[in-house]
Amino acid sequence: MAKGSVLPWDTAALGAFREALLSWYARNRRDLPWRRTKDPYAILVAEVLLQQTRVAQALGYYARFLAAFPDFAALAAAPEEKVLGIWAGAGYYRRARQLHRLAQRVVREGLPRTYAGLLGLPGVGPYTAAAVASQAFGEPVAVVDGNVRRVLARLCAERAPRPRWLRETAQALLDPRDPGTWNQALMELGALVCRPRNPGCGGCPGAFLCRGRGEPHRYPRPRRRRPKTEEVVALVLVGPEGVHLERREGGPLAGLWGVPLAPGPDGLARLLARFGLAEARWVGTVRHAFSHRRWVVRVYAAAWPGAGGGARPVSALDRKILSLVGSQLLTN
Ligand code: SF4
Repeated sequence: MAKGSVLPWDTAALGAFREALLSWYARNRRDLPWRRTKDPYAILVAEVLLQQTRVAQALGYYARFLAAFPDFAALAAAPEEKVLGIWAGAGYYRRARQLHRLAQRVVREGLPRTYAGLLGLPGVGPYTAAAVASQAFGEPVAVVDGNVRRVLARLCAERAPRPRWLRETAQALLDPRDPGTWNQALMELGALVCRPRNPGCGGCPGAFLCRGRGEPHRYPRPRRRRPKTEEVVALVLVGPEGVHLERREGGPLAGLWGVPLAPGPDGLARLLARFGLAEARWVGTVRHAFSHRRWVVRVYAAAWPGAGGGARPVSALDRKILSLVGSQLLTN
């Protein structure tokens, strides 16, 4: 073990691992658009998207978002409704709103070019700040995401990697010659080889020093975190002009338009009272998962003369609700 290092290998092994990983990455990396640029804006958009979306899905949203808003100035100048509309379907709309606010701040005050400066921007946490600082500006700061966590835990046979241990280990491992490429390489190793299930240890550039090899599934110990399930009622109000949509003020869908919602078992009674209705017809149940919670949505529909309005950016949940109601109307 190198003196004073948190890593369990000597300097020669560390050097050999860096060479092996970078050479593996050069041969095996996926050609992704955000890896072809040093533009901090494009990298930031990609990193925010990738926090909640798989790479294959993110590609389409990324292209659409950059075509609509090619730089900080274009994003800052756009109305929030348009930003949410372009983002719709990518989920976790809070991030889109924060990205929008971030662009407005950058236009006013300029873009910080360091990890510490980036951390002060709206919605930017340690992962995103490290990704942008290392890739766009070459700052030697390590990223820690789910892939890196798993790879480090296995390489070091650490069953319960704590955040501080992860930060220090990732930082000690980082190749300072090209931090952006190093970070991408370690994440790519986790995505393609050191996968959660069936890691491909036989083709792994780190196999020669990996302490978890042989029993990789022991590392890291699984985290038990069940998403909270919440009961919500949706009331679809149908009128001659269409369906009533309203702008949501709070919760995970704030800022988007959708059908009226109310949480809890008495949600229907509150919605009926709000719209002066005596009853509504039960349509069915829709399930929807957000990042840290699940909603079970009981959907009701009623005729309401005031319903109507133009096309609005609605969430994926509302699309599910409206499609359920639409299919019921067609079959009844
Ligand atoms: S040898 Fe296996 S467990 Fe170790 S880092 Fe490589 S893929 Fe992961």
